[in-house]
Amino acid sequence: MKMEQVDSSPAGNRHHHVLLFPFMSKGHTIPLLHLARLLLRRHITVTVVTTPANRPFISQSLSSTASAANILTLPFSHNVPQIPAGTESSDALPSMSLFYPFASSTVLMQPAFDAAIETLNLRPTFMVSDGFLWWTLESANRIRIPRLVSFGMSAHAMSLGRAVGETGILWGPESPEELIAMPQFPWMKVSKSDFEPFFYDREAQQGVDFEFVMLAFGVAAQSHGFVLNTFYELEKAFVDYVNSSKNGPTSWCVGPLCLAEPMEEDVSGPRPEYMDWLDRKYVEGKSVLFVAFGSQADISLEQLNEIATGLEDSGANFLWVLREKEAGLLGQEEVTRFEERVEERGKVVKGWARQREILGHKSVKGFMSHCGWNSVMESVCAGVAVAAWPMSAEQPMNARMVVEEMKVGVRVETCDGSVRGFVKRDGVAKAVKELMEGERGRKAAERAAEKLAS
Ligand code: UDP
Repeated sequence: MKMEQVDSSPAGNRHHHVLLFPFMSKGHTIPLLHLARLLLRRHITVTVVTTPANRPFISQSLSSTASAANILTLPFSHNVPQIPAGTESSDALPSMSLFYPFASSTVLMQPAFDAAIETLNLRPTFMVSDGFLWWTLESANRIRIPRLVSFGMSAHAMSLGRAVGETGILWGPESPEELIAMPQFPWMKVSKSDFEPFFYDREAQQGVDFEFVMLAFGVAAQSHGFVLNTFYELEKAFVDYVNSSKNGPTSWCVGPLCLAEPMEEDVSGPRPEYMDWLDRKYVEGKSVLFVAFGSQADISLEQLNEIATGLEDSGANFLWVLREKEAGLLGQEEVTRFEERVEERGKVVKGWARQREILGHKSVKGFMSHCGWNSVMESVCAGVAVAAWPMSAEQPMNARMVVEEMKVGVRVETCDGSVRGFVKRDGVAKAVKELMEGERGRKAAERAAEKLAS
């Protein structure tokens, strides 16, 4: 199936209608909402498909666009007894171990989706749907439109996944942390722990996770193409690699999508108080470390305590985002005691923070991050160096991209040297000092500024 040539004049674009169907997690939804902005700016009709509980986030995110997107709301119910009723977003899951069962449930939306797209006033030109919504390819084929896939991943992580699959290098005798050379990228080494266990452990391949990932990627490979939230100059070798298979779908770099919105000023809602705090730090000439681990990481109470004491020991000025779940684990009294101990030097933000706006603030010089791909892109676009602390999914690969490929960050060291291990307070403090005061941090910041300028 081929896409028509797009006439990009306002009159030409008015005939085009793009269906965007993000997966129900913030990290997967946000980049597609940025894509919606870009399409709307080109006078293209956009319909975003979602569920009732996710609708307010989407309508608020798109409220400042000049022309409105249509929002198509479909009922969603999962079939997983361990997930509380009414949970419609992966960041609301009680544990990330329920992620794949939750993602598998989305197939229950297919009949409602198929019925809804039959009755749209303007026939869609094409669809961009999340890779986890694999069944949308069948829907697109049924109404004879191309489906483009978004996984929210870098070309680097996609390449590494494909490369280890093709060569089988993870099936050797090496221990999980041992470095293994990559034939396709001779300058690089990876370890088994950079990947999900099902990449190198037969037992892990028995689970629902493996089955689902194989299905999602298998179906994605039969789709028209991929949209990648990246830009070619950032990861040339990897974009070329993902596009090197003769019969595979083409990947198009449409990023950095976060630049579809201004970094400095989030237009929706009043300016939060923590931005004034950042202003004060700037006036005092103090550099601030931003500490945030995305929208859905599972962080234990023990680990949260080490982060708190490590930040305290580091002596750095910092702004730390604690999600509701984490604030609940620590307990209000403990959070208050922590705030009292660090006084003006540190600020805790509870709940949702305006990450892009914070990263764009002049006082923010470092970002301790789990290396979700959106966070990496937002950091690059703000010219802020990263203390890379990967926690799950493809984040260990993103951390390698940040530290070894782009060289815009330092690694947070785990206490046993493993990729996914526990980090003690001294590991936290060491990484912060290295990033904010050390030579490696200075070089990383220079490179981050260069990336921003280029
Ligand atoms: N985010 C935010 N405020 C928060 C938490 C997250 O704005 O309090 C945004 C962040 O800027 C990014 C996305 O949510 O755009 C998280 O995506 P990422 O890939 O970094 O991590 P994930 O949440 O998928 O693990």
